[in-house]
Amino acid sequence: SSAPSVSPALSAAELTALRDRALGDYAALVERGLSLDLTRGKPSPRQLDLAAELLTLPARGHLAADGTDTRNYGGLQGLTELREIFSGPLQVPAAQLIAAGNSSLALMHDSVVHAMLSPLPGAGRRWADEPRVAFLCPVPGYDRHFALCERFGIELIPVPMTADGPDMDVVERLVAEDAQIKGIWCVPKYSNPDGVCYSDETVRRLAGMTAAAPDFRIFWDNAYAVHHLTDTPVEIADLLALCAESGNPDRAFVYGSTSKITFAGAGVAFFGSSPANTAWLLGHMAKGTIGPDKINQLRHAEFLRDEAGVLEHMRRHRELLQPKFDLVQAILAKELGGTGLASWSSPAGGYFVSLDVLEGCAREVVRRAAEAGIALTPAGATHPYGDDPRDSTIRIAPSYPGLEELEQAITGLAVCVLLVATEKLLE
Ligand code: PLP
Repeated sequence: SSAPSVSPALSAAELTALRDRALGDYAALVERGLSLDLTRGKPSPRQLDLAAELLTLPARGHLAADGTDTRNYGGLQGLTELREIFSGPLQVPAAQLIAAGNSSLALMHDSVVHAMLSPLPGAGRRWADEPRVAFLCPVPGYDRHFALCERFGIELIPVPMTADGPDMDVVERLVAEDAQIKGIWCVPKYSNPDGVCYSDETVRRLAGMTAAAPDFRIFWDNAYAVHHLTDTPVEIADLLALCAESGNPDRAFVYGSTSKITFAGAGVAFFGSSPANTAWLLGHMAKGTIGPDKINQLRHAEFLRDEAGVLEHMRRHRELLQPKFDLVQAILAKELGGTGLASWSSPAGGYFVSLDVLEGCAREVVRRAAEAGIALTPAGATHPYGDDPRDSTIRIAPSYPGLEELEQAITGLAVCVLLVATEKLLE
């Protein structure tokens, strides 16, 4: 994993000294009565301001490039010009891309619901008629993926992450032997929460592996496709193309959105897949809507212009986000570096830092932080059923707070880590 397991590098005397200092620091921290929130990966108001112009668009009238009156019904697949802009970043031909409402999570949800109620291309039967439906969940992962599955009684099977993506030896074995495994959750670039980017080899193996289920799908949630934090943007392999080349053309469901590009609550979400899957989803969507909000899609196309426009806009996000991520790294290194009491990811993009503390300490760290007024994502949220068996992973979301608040929160968090770890070791 990007966060290797930690082991203390301190003598008993050093530990005692550290614990005593942490006790004092913690008392002072509680005394300050902070109220800080690092729970969710929300864009900050300044990031949202970058897209303020959207509120004045469309400025060139209400007609789309092909003459579509965006005010009217219709156009279920979404505006062509917007699909063309996101075709490159999401690695899906525009003709196979759907531009929908504001939430990719909603598209993931609806994909699961439709697969429950109607057979997928290639399926013998719908998932609701299966004796059991299971999804592989690389861990640590995104809690809302897990919650979505739980809501429909889908069994969650954790798979360990490596620096190159999910452990493919485990994935290949499970998917080949168990026909009830119908899906795997993947955040292939700047993964939530550990920032992992899938290697080309991982993507190739996912596309080509043998699946016992004829309706096995890779839920490829490319939520952070263009959310770079360095000068060398990560490029991942093209899953959809590799699936087609490997004779598994219908295996990939690709998702993305502008939630962290424009407005998190009023962006545009995308689904992309094979022609058969895209037709399958459109057919079911047609029963629920006559068409998406094309005015919002038009204003997005006007605002972002083209793929280069998206990348240029993301550079502005990076200017706001990078100082925050740098600050988290600097504080964690200063306060916890060399102690062996914690390790953490150094993501090259995305929205999160994953902090690993000593085994059995994460819940207590989160509890102590909450007592000091620092709200963190609940420990365990990064694992299926909220159960991190090692109780060691904590997700940090640095995007929302200002720099000053962030400094207070991460410094306070480090105090909690030191306190809980030293107390545990001195037990
Ligand atoms: N997927 C991942 C991996 C996320 O981290 C998030 C938000 O944090 C989402 C999806 C939500 O996407 P949307 O806003 O498009 O529903």
